[in-house]
Amino acid sequence: MDPRTTIEAMLRPDLRGRTAYGAPQLEVPVALNTNENSYPVPAVVAEAMTRAVAEVATGLNRYPDREFTALRTDLAAYLSRGGTAVTAEQVWAGNGSNEVLLHLLQAFGGPGRVALGFTPAYSMHPIITTTTGTTWVDGMRGVAGAGAFDLDAASAVAQVRGLRPDVVFLCSPNNPTGTALDLATVEAVHDATDGLVVVDEAYAEFARPGTPSALTLLEGRPRLVVTRTMSKAFALAGGRLGYLAADPVLVDALRLVRMPYHLSSPTQAVARAALAHADLMLETVGVVKDQRDRIVTELAALGLDPVASDANFVLFGGLRDSHATWQALLERGVLVRDVGIPHYLRVTAGTPEETTAFLDALTALVPTHAGAAP
Ligand code: PMP
Repeated sequence: MDPRTTIEAMLRPDLRGRTAYGAPQLEVPVALNTNENSYPVPAVVAEAMTRAVAEVATGLNRYPDREFTALRTDLAAYLSRGGTAVTAEQVWAGNGSNEVLLHLLQAFGGPGRVALGFTPAYSMHPIITTTTGTTWVDGMRGVAGAGAFDLDAASAVAQVRGLRPDVVFLCSPNNPTGTALDLATVEAVHDATDGLVVVDEAYAEFARPGTPSALTLLEGRPRLVVTRTMSKAFALAGGRLGYLAADPVLVDALRLVRMPYHLSSPTQAVARAALAHADLMLETVGVVKDQRDRIVTELAALGLDPVASDANFVLFGGLRDSHATWQALLERGVLVRDVGIPHYLRVTAGTPEETTAFLDALTALVPTHAGAAP
């Protein structure tokens, strides 16, 4: 018998026919499709990481510190730099913020429970939700017209009140649209539910000046969680380290669902070495923000429709057939992301050279690719 038939019959019914998350991992000269930081880890930090891994290597016969105490302390110190004091007991971490989100859904979702997100947002939120047997509901962001991708606070509150979800996802700055939420919206959504409110702040470090973090709202709100990652601003996507801040009681509950020793000793050592050099690791954030703003300005000048961004990427519209433009850019060596929104593509802000390559390729395509659908 075809193994496919056998496996399909064994698979959980709710997973049958699903497609896996799959941003293409193609070898291209200019990869601007997964919102990584284009800059390599600085040599002095890479050396510190290598030394830190060498130090733990002979101890790899033992399990790592299950509670990753030193790493939690370092993450709390890093978060506290933003102005809101965060303690080690308020911090949890995993192999990327995806795993941290999974822990949240394993603990607070599950069969019979419902999670709500406002689409378009991060595509893994529904996938993580449904793999834990939680029901996913696509909420609406806004109204048609200018600012259509902004989350409308009154509408969000009405949707939360109507659905009474167990978990609400907010994403700020939002992937793929780029804009951050104001705290009044986060507060309003929080007050409209008795459930968990997750604010995914993967791109927080790129936000435009004056954009406050939901970390400032944690005090007195035990149902609120803020997730972060070292994959983006910290240029550590390959290190796989994501984390969250929340009430210590909520953090403690996550120990019920994580696998024992889920953060390996090398992972903890590498992340701590990066955090010890936080200023150096974050040095490229300013350059990336400049390139992001440059993309917004130049795409508007080309007659396209870029969305203002607080992240390290720009969503832009005004394309007749976005998939055809995606393909044509790829043929020119530039890989961007087709996020499935008709007439729009998403591009990561890279180095100035990568941004130039992207803008040059797109400029050449505009005469044949821009405009309304025929
Ligand atoms: N949240 C958002 C909004 C993201 O865009 C991403 C990665 N693209 C993640 C979380 C997960 O990142 P990681 O698992 O690398 O921390």
